[in-house]
Amino acid sequence: MNLLDGKIVSAHYKSLLQHNVNVAIAKGLRVPHLAAVLVGSNPASEFYVQSKMRSCKEVGFHSSLISKDENITESELVTILHQLNSNDNIDGYIVQLPLPKHIDESKIIQAIAPSKDVDGFHPINIGKLVLNQDTFISATPLGITKILEYYHIPTSGKHCVIIGRSHIVGMPMGLLMLRNSSIGNSTVTYTHSRTENLKAITSQADILIAAIGKPNYITADMIKNGAIVIDVGINRINDESKKKGYRIVGDVDFESVKNIASYITPVPGGVGLMTVIALLLNTWKAYNNTFLIENHKNE
Ligand code: NDP
Repeated sequence: MNLLDGKIVSAHYKSLLQHNVNVAIAKGLRVPHLAAVLVGSNPASEFYVQSKMRSCKEVGFHSSLISKDENITESELVTILHQLNSNDNIDGYIVQLPLPKHIDESKIIQAIAPSKDVDGFHPINIGKLVLNQDTFISATPLGITKILEYYHIPTSGKHCVIIGRSHIVGMPMGLLMLRNSSIGNSTVTYTHSRTENLKAITSQADILIAAIGKPNYITADMIKNGAIVIDVGINRINDESKKKGYRIVGDVDFESVKNIASYITPVPGGVGLMTVIALLLNTWKAYNNTFLIENHKNE
């Protein structure tokens, strides 16, 4: 078994981004700027947003956190997004999900300018992904392609089984593996909660990508010998031996599957780290698409 180590891949991309920011600064250009909108005080959301802001700092990006009370109305939130859309100093922004129940997530996502939608959730950006056009790709699937690329994992002609069809992970992941691209050209099978005999399908996977949200759900008997296993899951399970009383595990039972897989991502230390990096890569892309191009036009 070889580890697909998110720490190594994320360090590689962080230093690449740091270098690019330094080059921009040396040219007298402003630095990229990512904003995040956080509604309410969900501890997991707070943790994710803080880690995104911290990563911005590490690579030299500016970041802004806009925190709002969970009683904010939908129209107040839309007004904030319109302000961000027209703020030329902000290259991209995210609205941390989930939102409180009284706010319609799809309405909020549609209020984000597609050119600033660095999470890649806007219908226009998802449509472009379907058509294999240049766009912002949802961070977790984009991060996974960066892991596959870094470790030179061949994907062309391979059978890739995706478990999960969410709009932010499973669905875009399958589209990426399907498209005609260096990471892609796989034969893709989607599975979900209504799939019958999941094991019969997963056992045929050359590349298995699990994005389910069920701790240690994928066990060794579901894996083909030598398969590449990507574990997206982030699940808390009780563990009295830990100070916090819990630990984080993936959707894949790492201890048993590592003996069958040829490559596997750990949890933590795998896909999660790359999700943050992919967001920074999308912010860099937004910066290049707008600021640098505008600047060039004015020269
Ligand atoms: P969702 O709950 O939105 O989607 C889960 C998917 O898994 C659904 O498509 C569901 O099917 C499917 N599913 C549920 N049970 C089964 C089952 N028994 N067999 C097969 N499929 C099943 O979750 P997300 O996609 O948002 O996230 C998935 C996991 O990834 C979570 O643990 C989440 O915390 C983690 N995550 C990690 C990230 C990272 O950076 N590492 C980023 C985002 C998420 P159906 O559609 O039929 O309901």
